[in-house]
Amino acid sequence: MANNKTNKMQINLNLNVRGIPQSATLRINEQSEELKKQGRQIYKLGLGQSPFPVPEPVVEELRANAYQKDYLPVKGLKRLREAIADYHQRRQGVSYSWEDVLIGPGSKELMFLLQFVYYGDLVIPTPSWVSYAPQAHIIGRHVRWLSTQVENNWKLTPSELYNICKEDPERPRIVILNYPSNPSGCTYIVDELKELAKVARKYQVILLSDEIYGELHHRGQHVSISRFYPEGTIISGGLSKWCGAGGWRLGAFIFPNSLRWLLDSMSSVASETFTSTSAPIQYAAVRAFKGGIEIERYLWQSRRILRNLGKELANKLTSAGVKVPMPEGGFYLFPDFSFYKDKLNAKGIKTSNELCSNLLNETGVAILPGSDFGRPADELTARLAYVDFDGARALAAAEQIPSDKNLNGQFLETSCGRLLEAVNKICDWLND
Ligand code: GLU
Repeated sequence: MANNKTNKMQINLNLNVRGIPQSATLRINEQSEELKKQGRQIYKLGLGQSPFPVPEPVVEELRANAYQKDYLPVKGLKRLREAIADYHQRRQGVSYSWEDVLIGPGSKELMFLLQFVYYGDLVIPTPSWVSYAPQAHIIGRHVRWLSTQVENNWKLTPSELYNICKEDPERPRIVILNYPSNPSGCTYIVDELKELAKVARKYQVILLSDEIYGELHHRGQHVSISRFYPEGTIISGGLSKWCGAGGWRLGAFIFPNSLRWLLDSMSSVASETFTSTSAPIQYAAVRAFKGGIEIERYLWQSRRILRNLGKELANKLTSAGVKVPMPEGGFYLFPDFSFYKDKLNAKGIKTSNELCSNLLNETGVAILPGSDFGRPADELTARLAYVDFDGARALAAAEQIPSDKNLNGQFLETSCGRLLEAVNKICDWLND
């Protein structure tokens, strides 16, 4: 009887949500934790969580503001909005006022709100981060995938964007460009950004530039496309990646003045849903965006570690015959295992999903299938997040090595040994 009632209620589940599983990144993390609890040795290369601790001055600021208990304005704390506008002026030379900034509990929530309030297609390259398309499906928006090529480091070309826009020039669209890229680790050079900006301007698309990994450009040379298409670009960022604070849930969107109406609509919906973002976290975030020498040093060492580590892991995979672009930012690799297709097929592995679940069962290495990133199910690609190491220890060890030196094999062995082991396991498994 009780069961019958439950079933009846379940029938009323929103059609867009029916059958939607938990997000791939969170699912693999919880599954990995579960396997660890069962005593299995698991290499956690699934969830993309920064290995580095939150910089000390930012933690101190959070401590000092633990008493902040009042609701803050829905658009965010004025001091934080000012700090973020200044930060963009300083870093990118694009001028914004504090009123152009909207704060939210993670940029993911703001992306959802944007798609919710703006009626238009979602246009994203394959591969793309796991949550853009599911958000569109939940809201009922049409998703257009733009194909990209491994030979071009999975980057979107202006002609690929142009071809979609010219089919129906007046159609409202949100195009998401995410770089340094999750999942490929690759990024765009200035000329490529300028060409993409030209197409975006011609068709007046809303360009959501997801720059959450911008500060983790391995050489500290991130350039925002907002420089070249300021009037149509919304920049998405936050504390999660460069500040090691994913669990703090602090995201920000920066709008051009011409899109203030979108910011206002999003904040009206926010006022009826999450109300405002956590007060102590916003006070602490002011410190993070103000920057300074300590934070610069932390960033410099984080980039140095990720650059050397990413290169080492990519080289290991390449020498085993795996196609993988050299990462330029962030902490992801997007290998293509098709070199091993016949061997894997013979083992009954035909999809990226089967590849990842067999790999996890047989070696304990957790990675995510390319199909979660919009790639065809039978393409043997996957995303590997090289984050399973003690970031605090690695930062301390890097400090001991002169800044003009590369972080050598010895450093990587002692500070990031689990990752080298995990990639060796992948290679051995492929060659088994
Ligand atoms: N952005 C991270 C990832 O791609 C995790 C955060 C999330 O998916 O919510 O793994």
